[in-house]
Amino acid sequence: MFTDARNLPDHTTLEADLAIIGGGVAGITLARALAGNKTRVCVIESGGLEFDPQVQSLYEGENTGIDYSTTLTRMRFFGGSSNHWGGYCRPLDPIDFETRDWVPFSGWPFAFDELVPWYQPAAEIVQIAPGHFDDSRYWQQQTGEPIPEPATGRLRLQFVHFSPPTHFGSRYRDELKAAANIQVLLNANVTNITAAENGGSVKQLAIRTLNGLNQSVKARYYVLATGGLENARVLLLSNDVVKAGLGNHNDQVGRYFMEHPHLSGFADIVAGDLVRLPKIFRERVTVEGRPAQVAFNPAQAFLREQQLLNATFMVGVAGIYQAGTLAGSGDSNAQARRDMLLAARRFLSDEGKTTDPNTLGVWLGVGGSCEQAPNPDSRVSLSDQRDALELPRLKLDWRLTEQDRLSFYANLRSLALEFGALGIGRMRETVTDPRDWPQPVAGGSHHMGTTRMSNDPSRGVVDRNCKVHDVENLYVAGSSVFPTSGSANPTLTLVALTLRLAEHLKDRFR
Ligand SMILES: Cc1cc2nc3c(=O)[nH]c(=O)nc-3n(C[C@H](O)[C@H](O)[C@H](O)COP(=O)(O)OP(=O)(O)OC[C@H]3O[C@@H](n4cnc5c(N)ncnc54)[C@H](O)[C@@H]3O)c2cc1C
Repeated sequence: MFTDARNLPDHTTLEADLAIIGGGVAGITLARALAGNKTRVCVIESGGLEFDPQVQSLYEGENTGIDYSTTLTRMRFFGGSSNHWGGYCRPLDPIDFETRDWVPFSGWPFAFDELVPWYQPAAEIVQIAPGHFDDSRYWQQQTGEPIPEPATGRLRLQFVHFSPPTHFGSRYRDELKAAANIQVLLNANVTNITAAENGGSVKQLAIRTLNGLNQSVKARYYVLATGGLENARVLLLSNDVVKAGLGNHNDQVGRYFMEHPHLSGFADIVAGDLVRLPKIFRERVTVEGRPAQVAFNPAQAFLREQQLLNATFMVGVAGIYQAGTLAGSGDSNAQARRDMLLAARRFLSDEGKTTDPNTLGVWLGVGGSCEQAPNPDSRVSLSDQRDALELPRLKLDWRLTEQDRLSFYANLRSLALEFGALGIGRMRETVTDPRDWPQPVAGGSHHMGTTRMSNDPSRGVVDRNCKVHDVENLYVAGSSVFPTSGSANPTLTLVALTLRLAEHLKDRFR
């Protein structure tokens, strides 16, 4: 059942066994996992079924760190940010879960293997082909093209899968409507998670609508699933009993905000041998109706040896060199690329091979996104400005460190060596000042770390089961619980984690 909170009488109280705050990727995944069950579930969603600028403006925030939009990088209506996500999917790597002595505050409370069983059902939910993320042989068979093994020992191939992309709101709406045990409350903003007097449990949720009504929801268990920035804000706003904010006894809520710095325009690759450049290296290839493309990642042994952070590079064709048009195009970098192409072709024993005699080579653009080390000073807090519900807006201070930047450049060097070693071509770095980041530094709309998971309450907000430390009936779902970010896009992993959480909650309701 879907209900519009704006049409309920003022001061209505709804009751459920489980209240899920937020009807985005995590909230919908969790509700679906409990559909048809006898547990009464209430999903409380701030927005309606369509985009509404007035609701979206509740996401406006103050920015004091690296330039970042808190409104363009998320969506506030049913389906959440899946209403305009890109669909890039890949699991985290095993090393991302490890305690790495060169990465401060690293280490998940469990190993990658614990999440493996959940990645398969998560893949179905985001509508990608299951598995084969690092199985070159499979892609070789499927595409009919040889896929070279990395030659330097520094890099490995990963195969990114692309979701259609699944818009969770429209795809799963009817299923939730049909489930007798699920109620979705739309246009309902949770303004406070009201704690019992000792702060050790949640009593109820305070809800306000934009037409001025106040409602509440009471449940046995509560799951906060409002996205990687808002999860921290809602806990900080819930400060009537615990003054620092619910779950924030140890000043951990909102800290360790991580993005995947997304970088471009820092390098050119000129490929002189197209025979050695499989299509899946440079564009999406569709197998059984589902697209995939290679990502170049540092080998885990190399990361350990060199004490680096993780990274992901992808390349795409930016231009084609045809016979007779090599001499330049007016582009200031054309001469440099031409020289690189000639050098690459001289280097290749038979002067370069192409399937088309007129095509002399291709120019590849490179995009990178990298892991950011957890940093307590990179954080979300509350602003002095207020939103339309009179609540303090979010304040974001995104910060990167020298370690993040040096790691990126070291991994970039590996990419250059690899393209040379494979005999595909030559890479040229175009960064003007390596003491700085390539500009611009953008985020990937990936919000992680602000309610991090740790078994130690002084080092994190939630425990290994995503339960808030010292609050017996409150859980958090989403990438805000990631203690480290790896370099893979987060949604597949947060769906897998939410399915794991659903199983844990089912046990509690048994
Ligand atoms: C442009 C863009 C591109 C992206 N591309 C990719 C990609 O290619 N691959 C990838 O893995 N990820 C991508 N992402 C990230 C992905 O969308 C998120 O990881 C995912 O949506 C997070 O799920 P979530 O449930 O935690 O949050 P959301 O999906 O954002 O859901 C949060 C929900 O909570 C609701 N809410 C917020 N506050 C309240 C409140 N106080 N009360 C009630 N409800 C509330 C919101 O309305 C929303 O529906 C992209 C995101 C964007 C914006």
